[in-house]
Amino acid sequence: MNAIELNEISYEYTDGTKAIETLTLNIPIGAKVALLGPNGAGKSTLLHHLNGLKIPDEGSITIMGEALTKRSAKAIRRKVGLVFQDPDDQVFSGSVLEDVQFGPRNLGMSEEEIEAVCHAALGSVGMLEFKKKPPFHLSYGQKKRVAIAGILAMQPDIVILDEPMSYLDPQGQDDVAALLHGLHFMGKTILLSTHDVNFAASWADTIILMKEGRLLASGGTELLVDEESVREAELHLPVIARLFRMLNYEKEKLPRNEQEAARILFESMNKEALT
Ligand code: ADP
Repeated sequence: MNAIELNEISYEYTDGTKAIETLTLNIPIGAKVALLGPNGAGKSTLLHHLNGLKIPDEGSITIMGEALTKRSAKAIRRKVGLVFQDPDDQVFSGSVLEDVQFGPRNLGMSEEEIEAVCHAALGSVGMLEFKKKPPFHLSYGQKKRVAIAGILAMQPDIVILDEPMSYLDPQGQDDVAALLHGLHFMGKTILLSTHDVNFAASWADTIILMKEGRLLASGGTELLVDEESVREAELHLPVIARLFRMLNYEKEKLPRNEQEAARILFESMNKEALT
């Protein structure tokens, strides 16, 4: 069974903008998916479909084997948590704790359960000590972590994040990357949009490239070192691949991330030592 199945979905905004056009895609359970494409490609619109915030004009969506419709959207929100790009759209209660409690309470969890899941969620994003603070006193990065905790507290199978790294400082980005690794080891399916090709190439196992509401390509991280795909999706090569291109490395053998580059260098150094 796939976590997410999109079958020829299309979506048009009321002003006539066609944001998604006949898009078909399957995402297996446990996948780490990075969705990339230029501004206006339809990434946010697509992510908003995955927990029923938007319903496609045409086509169908299946989440963990269940058809997503206006009727089933509420139940499906238990399975799919969506972290918005701007935490101010998500974090609004009087205190951090109240904010994280909001979702589980809405789901009808008992007070005991709410306490346990909120404690765990705030702990996993490193925000427990801030639980009594009003969210508007927090930094952008801290609010982002609270927004993520609010979603984790609902214990979804699938976690969707719209540009989770944007506007975070380097340490904040590392913290979110570590959190995403942790979620993967907990068995969650993770789908995020990002402009950060370096992060996508080192974290994801599946890449989806979108442009003008359409799917350009989907596959492994090798798509990010395929110059044609990269040009079409208006991206650039990961910095480590660009370095190897400058060194006249073969197009077909470019490393996707630091680990791969280190292996290539290590092997070539060993070869030299042997000759
Ligand atoms: P991305 O997340 O890839 O930047 P979006 O999903 O935000 O792309 O936007 C896809 C297209 O839909 C763009 O052309 C954008 O201008 C348009 N769009 C987004 N939101 C609205 C809206 N509320 N009303 C009309 N058009 C919109």
